[in-house]
Amino acid sequence: MSKIKILHMYADMLDLYGDSGNMEVISYRCKMRGIECCIDKYSVDSEMPDFSSYDLIYIGGGADLEQQHISDDLQKCKDGIESARKNGSFLFLICGGYQLMGKYYRDADGNDIPGLGLFDYYTAAEPNRRKRCIGNIVIRTEFTGKTVDIVGFENHGGQTKDVKTPLGSVLYGHGNCTKSSHEGYFEKNVIATYMHGPCLSKNPEISDYIIEYCVNRNSDTPVKLGKLDDDLELKCRDIMKERLLNK
Ligand code: GLN
Repeated sequence: MSKIKILHMYADMLDLYGDSGNMEVISYRCKMRGIECCIDKYSVDSEMPDFSSYDLIYIGGGADLEQQHISDDLQKCKDGIESARKNGSFLFLICGGYQLMGKYYRDADGNDIPGLGLFDYYTAAEPNRRKRCIGNIVIRTEFTGKTVDIVGFENHGGQTKDVKTPLGSVLYGHGNCTKSSHEGYFEKNVIATYMHGPCLSKNPEISDYIIEYCVNRNSDTPVKLGKLDDDLELKCRDIMKERLLNK
């Protein structure tokens, strides 16, 4: 039986709009295929884990205050997370977690929360607190050569710039900045997005891209995941797409 090991970081602080649900979706989709899925939690002052031993490191979203609360602790994890990414662990990051892997997050008052600087992008909030990117969002992306439209919900003041390889192009909503053409950040073993929802519940292709990567990352004989019945999930997504794109 294959097995994947997940580290869910700061689940008690960074969990907006049901972001923890993403781990339930991954865990369910593994179970349906007979893949063992072990999820460990890490939070402020937990014992320092061996980050590279995890196939997937997951961080959800949180408001400025929560980002400040975890900031010092996150810096202690910098070397571990950086090495894990280099060693091929997958990073899945939502909103506040996405912002903190870049150079910095500057809040509406101009205070900086340092990021881990794993990527070149940086984020600054709109000085006017009322100007936030809030609402449903649809983006178009590609996983292993297949075009996929993803739906989610965004709520951020942060404007993320200098994103070299975005996750997708925006069909509806804002994305990395107000009325941006692009959303998120994407590398082979990194998906970062502003999409809450939780993001994976209506977008099974993202879950399966991550699971397939994790299952195969240390294997000489890569396997393809078996199909699941995603009828309901895809119907939900189609309804949202229809509502948002054809109005
Ligand atoms: N505090 C950040 C912002 O407002 C992140 C919010 C979030 O995670 N939804 O930009």
